[in-house]
Amino acid sequence: MLAAAQAALINGMGAVAPCSGFHHAGYRYASGFCTFNGLMVTVLCLLTQTQVRRVGILDLDEHWGDGTHDIIEHLGLQAQVEHYSPASTCYLEEHAEPFLAELPRTLERFSDCDLVLYQAGADPHVDDPLGGWLTTEQLRVRDQIVFDRLLQRGIPVAWNLAGGYQRDSSGGIQPVLDIHNNTMAEFARAWEQTCEARLAKGSPGNRSLRP
Ligand SMILES: [Zn+2]
Repeated sequence: MLAAAQAALINGMGAVAPCSGFHHAGYRYASGFCTFNGLMVTVLCLLTQTQVRRVGILDLDEHWGDGTHDIIEHLGLQAQVEHYSPASTCYLEEHAEPFLAELPRTLERFSDCDLVLYQAGADPHVDDPLGGWLTTEQLRVRDQIVFDRLLQRGIPVAWNLAGGYQRDSSGGIQPVLDIHNNTMAEFARAWEQTCEARLAKGSPGNRSLRP
């Protein structure tokens, strides 16, 4: 996660950390499949090294980032970390379209962040045994909005996989991989479009640095 964050800060666009299992780990405890909170380890490394002044954590996993919240509270990092984890208000299928309609405005809270860490969870999927309110297409629209808005604003985003527990008929994890693949496809598309927009304006962009 830290390597992805540092890469995103260098290329000015973003990077993926193909890892998960962070947001339930608190300051003094592990919990819910999470041993250490890699989100907050990353934040603290970057703050300590003065690579950032303020970091956003956009946690769109199905579940609340309680461990992240615990560490922010324990260390008094509210001014340096903008943490958004809407699990307590978005969990029914009827929440899906209002959530997506509101998402562009939600992302405004990160407008003064130097970097956003995005937990692109696959477990809000309607068929996930631990989730149940967004379709595959709605998850893709979620990712499209996140990447488009952040990259258009010039805010680098380091994203990870977070939760996802579906199984196919033979017990494989292809349904989860399909959701993660969609996230990567949206990231690549947003990257390409942002580069083209910057080139059109005469700025060099980072076309040579593909996601
Ligand atoms: Zn989860």
